[in-house]
Parts: sequence; C-alpha cells; structure tokens
Amino acid sequence: MKKVKTKEKFECVDLNVALDKIKKWSSERRLLEVCGFLGFKNGEYKLLLCENISQKPSEYFAINPVDYLNFIEEYNMICVFHSHVKGNEEASQFDVSMSENCCIPFMVYSLNTKKFSIYSPRNNDVDKDLLQNVIDAI
Ligand SMILES: [Zn+2]
Repeated sequence: MKKVKTKEKFECVDLNVALDKIKKWSSERRLLEVCGFLGFKNGEYKLLLCENISQKPSEYFAINPVDYLNFIEEYNMICVFHSHVKGNEEASQFDVSMSENCCIPFMVYSLNTKKFSIYSPRNNDVDKDLLQNVIDAI
C-alpha cells in the first residue's frame, strides 16, 4: 500500500499546475480535508500541504500555527486552501469566520463537484494582484 504523506511541498511556475496538485492531493486523501497554503516567491508558486490537526478532520480542518508562521516568513501568502470531502466548494460558515479572523482568503476544492471557490475576507492582508491571478484561474 502506498504511504500517503501528511506534509508535502511543491513549487511550479504555472499556476494551473499548482491547482492540479491541490486536486491530486485532495483525491489521494478522500477521508479527510486536506489543507495548506498557496504562496509566491521569485516567480514561482509555492504549495505547502499541512497536517490537518482538527479533531474531526473529515468535517473541519485546523493547521498548526507554527506551519503558518514558517510559511509567511519565507513566502508571499496568497491563500489558505482546503478540500471538502462532502458537499460542494462553497466556503462553510466556519470557513468564512476563520477567513475573516485571519484576514487571509480561503480557497476550497470540492471532491464532489471538482470545482474551486475562493472566499476573500473584508480585511484582506494578501497581495491583490496575486490573489486576482488565482481568482481568474479557478
Ligand atoms: Zn471548509
């Protein structure tokens, strides 16, 4: 049996390749919500797949704050991503309030609809142009 890693890094120049990677990670781990960060540095998109430390990882996700701090120290944050195992790609009420609280956009990928969505909080700390590229690509 193939061992599925809980943490992975990925980098690429083409945003669509990064989005495909999120789809692949999500499909390989269908029993839980995968979660991580999409960032940018020196002309490359950076993905960090984090461990979902939530008590109910099939319904919610939680990321260790240390992973977040390490990521923003090195990369320009674009959004937090996570998958929905059930339901569609719409941000849940929980997702919306988390996004508002951390002032970072949330991107959701649904295994059911195979679509992405992005929720942008009112107070948005990320680079507007980088975020717009992602909104245009999904
Ligand atoms: Zn969600």
